[in-house]
Amino acid sequence: MKILVANLGSTSFKYRLFDLADPSEPVLARGAVERIGAASSPCTVHLPSGPQIREAAVPDHGVAVRMCLEQLTDPATGVLKSADEVAAIGFKAVHAKHLSGVVRVNSEVLEAMEAYADVCPAHNPPYTKAMRLLADKLPEIPLIAAFETDFHQSIPEPAKRYAVPEEWATKFGIKRHGFHGASHRFIATRMAQILGRSDARIISCHLGGSSSLCAISNGKSQGCSLGMSPQSGLPHNNRVGDLDVFALPVVLRETGQSLEQVLHTLANKSGLEGICGLNDLRDIEAAAGQGNAQARLALDLFITDIRRYLGSFLVTLGGADAIVFTGGIGENSKVIREAVCRDLGWFGIELDPAKNLTAKAESQLSADGSRVQIWTVPTNEELIVARQTRDLLAAAV
Ligand code: ADP
Repeated sequence: MKILVANLGSTSFKYRLFDLADPSEPVLARGAVERIGAASSPCTVHLPSGPQIREAAVPDHGVAVRMCLEQLTDPATGVLKSADEVAAIGFKAVHAKHLSGVVRVNSEVLEAMEAYADVCPAHNPPYTKAMRLLADKLPEIPLIAAFETDFHQSIPEPAKRYAVPEEWATKFGIKRHGFHGASHRFIATRMAQILGRSDARIISCHLGGSSSLCAISNGKSQGCSLGMSPQSGLPHNNRVGDLDVFALPVVLRETGQSLEQVLHTLANKSGLEGICGLNDLRDIEAAAGQGNAQARLALDLFITDIRRYLGSFLVTLGGADAIVFTGGIGENSKVIREAVCRDLGWFGIELDPAKNLTAKAESQLSADGSRVQIWTVPTNEELIVARQTRDLLAAAV
């Protein structure tokens, strides 16, 4: 069964095509259509025969998917005989009102996602716009949404709740829903294979453009640093992270701005960028190294907050068997990994500095004798979405 997994931006369509009939679950092709809506858009696909780039006018995501299917079915170089071979398009959907799990996209699902456009301003609007268009223009291909909140449905109620009036939680869904579910699920599954046991206590640190920690035991989420929205928890590249809501009236009064303007700043001009003006952790590390005090502060605050959640989840799980770093920062930044693990010997967490410096791809970073294993594992969110899409299709038969 061939599943196309889509990653949508407001002007981009990135995808991977999986063949899940093959037990090794290979990626047959991956590609991207960028600058959708511009006069000319580059459509790139990486095929076994090599990369192929076409420039074409791509006015919307519907045309982008058609372009991608054309490239995948090219008689000379493509990997599909016909577009009919694509059993479904799976989406890593973020959040919807009163809805989670893995579901076929229909008008009810779209309305539930649209109802949370303001809760997930960077994610839901481009997804619902593109999904509506695809449902209209390519009705023959089933669209499946695998929600990021699904993995966290196992979080026990006391860890899910905010201390707000009961009606807010039960009727309005004001709870810690948790996100990055596909990534944390991948880490749970992969670590069970690596450790050779499914009952391990794992703290998964997904650190990237947006970041979260997740406490996992027996393969199930027990807590996540992300709460009601993707703007919560750790500071993100440009999103705020945890903030006392009673800061809001002060900011509204002092700036004279509207609530929408202030929320826009919190979702787009805050986080690490709000502190130091830089968005990419590589630039922040370089600037801190050159003595930029604001960049140093942004790094230290990020590390402090990661350690705050790490400590909390060590207590949640009663210790840990493994700590795993993943995401663009977790997989690449030795500086962050070293700083997060520093002076945690009392907890049985000891990083091997040499292994940390030379780590590439999937590797163990803990010192010999460290009670807690430390790993870096490249995440594969798309594979999780492909599997979930396949499972939903299979269950529907
Ligand atoms: P997203 O959350 O957008 O999917 P990624 O998981 O790809 O993001 O992470 C992107 C971030 O990873 C970049 O913003 C950058 O800060 C960080 N990153 C990538 N490579 C490195 C590196 N070699 N050292 C430090 N940080 C890195």
